[in-house]
This record gives sequence, structure tokens and C-alpha cells, in this order.
Amino acid sequence: MRETVQENFSAETLQELNKRFAGRSPQEILAYALERFFPKVVLACSFGAEDVVLWDMMHRINPQASLFYLDTDFLFPETYAVRDRLLARYQVSTEQVIRVTPALTPGQQADQFGDLLWVRQPDQCCQIRKVDPLTGILKNYAAWVTGIRRDQSPTRATAGLIEWDARFGLVKFNPLATWTNEEVWTYIKTHDVPYNALHDQHYPSIGCTHCTSPVQPGDDPRSGRWQSFEKNECGLHQ
Ligand code: SF4
Repeated sequence: MRETVQENFSAETLQELNKRFAGRSPQEILAYALERFFPKVVLACSFGAEDVVLWDMMHRINPQASLFYLDTDFLFPETYAVRDRLLARYQVSTEQVIRVTPALTPGQQADQFGDLLWVRQPDQCCQIRKVDPLTGILKNYAAWVTGIRRDQSPTRATAGLIEWDARFGLVKFNPLATWTNEEVWTYIKTHDVPYNALHDQHYPSIGCTHCTSPVQPGDDPRSGRWQSFEKNECGLHQ
């Protein structure tokens, strides 16, 4: 199936689609993704502000649509709390909200690679706890949806609305690519969408407990991630 999808999403087709959806709403892009790929399309959800917006939008378009989250074993209690509030709000089945876990428990990782791998080699830790599990789950789908926005970081500045993700071999939808942080929060407030309580405590971007810190007002929103390293991506989006 993936070969057929890739053939149908040639560079020319993607260019046309990006032209067609330029200036259109995220909901229209999501509706296209769901119409074209459901049930082989999935939302990647880290329970950040963008992801709860997409969950809400997706649920309004197709309440049967699925999402997954990468449970690294190092998520904040506030992240699990917003997950539970969203589950209660949308009343979706547990099969629709897929918990993806690493092959190694934290203890097994420490046994094999030593303690505090995230302090010594965060790329390797992210590979084990995020990238490998992501690679596994995406094999089941023909398309995925992410909450990437272009103004989040220089590495995301060129994100297309619809892309071919050569790394994982499927179509990638970034319906919020052109949205601003303000638009995200306007949507959350307007629709009363549950969000991670840490956002109110100067955590604009939230990942694992070991690698996420609050930022000063006005700072780069992703500067609280991996503060002692040059790193600013987990390796999920390249
Ligand atoms: S964010 Fe930190 S703790 Fe989480 S997987 Fe990456 S390096 Fe490990």
C-alpha cells in the first residue's frame, strides 16, 4: 500500500495540494486527510497545545479517528492528567487512543546503557524512547498528522501543509503549519479544549520530565527543551 501511496503523492501532486490548501483552514486540511486516508491516518499527540487543538478538530470531523502518544515513561503527571481529561471529554474508545511504549523499561535502559542516558546521550535516549517506537507505530499507517507550526523553530520554518515523509515512508499532514501561537490559544479558549496545566507555568513546549524546563517570557518557546544541549528536536521531525 505504501508504494501506491508514494506513487500517488509525487512531488508534483504535493506541490498542487499545497497550492490548493494554501490559505485554507486546518479543518479543511484535516477533512481531506481523513477523507483520503481514514482509517489509515493517525494523529501524533504529545498533549501539547497544538495537539489538543488537532484532537478537537479531528473529533468534530470524524469521531472514529485515531491518535497515538509516545509514553516514554518520563511524562509529567500534568500530561497524563490532560490525557484523562481529553478522554473524558471526547468519550473515545481506548483503541482509538493508542499508547506507544519503548521496547526497554527505564530499568532495562539503565542496565544496558547506564544511568541517566538523557544527561549523557540524549539522542540515543530519544532514539530508544521516541524514534524507535514511532517508527513501529507509523508502519501501520499511510498518513500521519502532526502539530508542527512553522514559527516554532528554525528547523520547522519550511514545513509544508502536506509532505511526503521519506524517513518513515508515509504522507505527513501539518494542518497548523501556518498558524501562530495566538491562533492556537484562541481556538483552545473558544472551544474550551482541555490543555496541559504546565502551559500556565511557563512551559510552552512539554516533553519528558528530565529534559523540559520552564522558559522566561519572550524566550524561544522550545528553549526549555534539552537546555544543556544544542539539541532542540527529538528526532521525530527532520
Ligand atoms: S526527551 Fe529526554 S528523557 Fe525523553 S526520550 Fe529524549 S532524552 Fe530521553
